[in-house]
Amino acid sequence: MKYILLLLFTVSMLFSAQITQQKWKSGEAFSTYLEKNGISQSLLKSIHSDDWQYLSEIQAEVVYYELKKDEKLIQALIPVGEEMQIHIFKDIKLDKFHFDIIPVACRDINDEVFFEINKSFYQDVKNNTRNPRLGYLLKKYYNKTVDFRKLQKNDKVSFLYRQKSRLGRPYGSAKIKASLIKTHGKDRFIFTDKDGVFYDNTSKSVAYTVEKKIKVNSGRSFVRPVKRMRITSKFTHKRWHPILKRYRPHLGVDIGAKRGTRIYATHSGKVIYAGWMGGYGKVVKISHKEGYVSLYAHQSKLAVKKGQYVKRRQVIGYIGSTGRSTGPHLHFGLYKNKKAVNPMKYVEKRSIGKKRTGIKKITKNRVVEIKNAKTNKTKLLKLVQGEPIACKWEAYTQPYDMISDRSRYEKPHNKL
Ligand SMILES: [Zn+2]
Repeated sequence: MKYILLLLFTVSMLFSAQITQQKWKSGEAFSTYLEKNGISQSLLKSIHSDDWQYLSEIQAEVVYYELKKDEKLIQALIPVGEEMQIHIFKDIKLDKFHFDIIPVACRDINDEVFFEINKSFYQDVKNNTRNPRLGYLLKKYYNKTVDFRKLQKNDKVSFLYRQKSRLGRPYGSAKIKASLIKTHGKDRFIFTDKDGVFYDNTSKSVAYTVEKKIKVNSGRSFVRPVKRMRITSKFTHKRWHPILKRYRPHLGVDIGAKRGTRIYATHSGKVIYAGWMGGYGKVVKISHKEGYVSLYAHQSKLAVKKGQYVKRRQVIGYIGSTGRSTGPHLHFGLYKNKKAVNPMKYVEKRSIGKKRTGIKKITKNRVVEIKNAKTNKTKLLKLVQGEPIACKWEAYTQPYDMISDRSRYEKPHNKL
């Protein structure tokens, strides 16, 4: 069995149960998971129809946790998106499993890194952040300005990044805000914004670089998947429903339209899924450049096949109400490196065939980006003048406890 035994907790209050870290098998359906663990399929019937979408949001290879006693599952925490997770747990008294959506217990870490190359760039990044992916991210960002094979011992590397911490480990995707590499007598900077990357070098000002990059970005937008965008439900990572007293994330936007309305590919790419997907009904998923994936759910009819390449604005299917849906609409999702992002921040503001608007927003962004980049540049220059900083991740370690995680939510199963 493919699992890593991460923590062997002896939770005295809860018999001697074990928490293990597992990886979700590619293509495994939630119902199969229940079956494997001897959980009655009636649990599926108890799941609110609006929650069915989350079962389709479990990403292949995602790390999740199980609490088992005598090899039998008692609890499982399976992430959907980065902020929420499916929680299934057994009510021992009733001998029955429950399903819930709860926030992932993690916190934001804003870290400053500064080291001198010692072993190898990648190893040093890993030692300082515990996240090997940051090294590859930096390499990608510095693609045009730094040859990583030519980095030498004692070259200075510093960067500012944001990372979630879960159980004292890096969790989810990290974001590098700015970086400075001093090599061959030169200062090489990069700055990033929410979705793009800016680079700078010694010869150009931060403002110049940011402006140039914003211009490039504004031309790279995704097009609307439906001509008239009537949003009936917005994107949200984490939303508490005060009446239902439950969390109701919505990892996409719902667009109301008549059955049979054309659905367009938001960008060119390759169809990686075309078919039925649980609560999402008939679905098309398209993989685009730079780690983006778009998803179009509840369609009445698909117009493309898996493996096919599509152009931007090509018809890929038609509005419907398949899967768990109360009426004809498109659930449109956009993912960057497997993380759900708000599609409305990416799709162009005008509808197909109309004049471009939204210039104002770009101007406002520009001012903010330049200010941030300047502040970060000053910070980095100051950092590299001091002593290298030791890795701080030791201090972020937090004990993990499924019981306390659960007890934050006042539910009858507390007294398990
Ligand atoms: Zn939706």
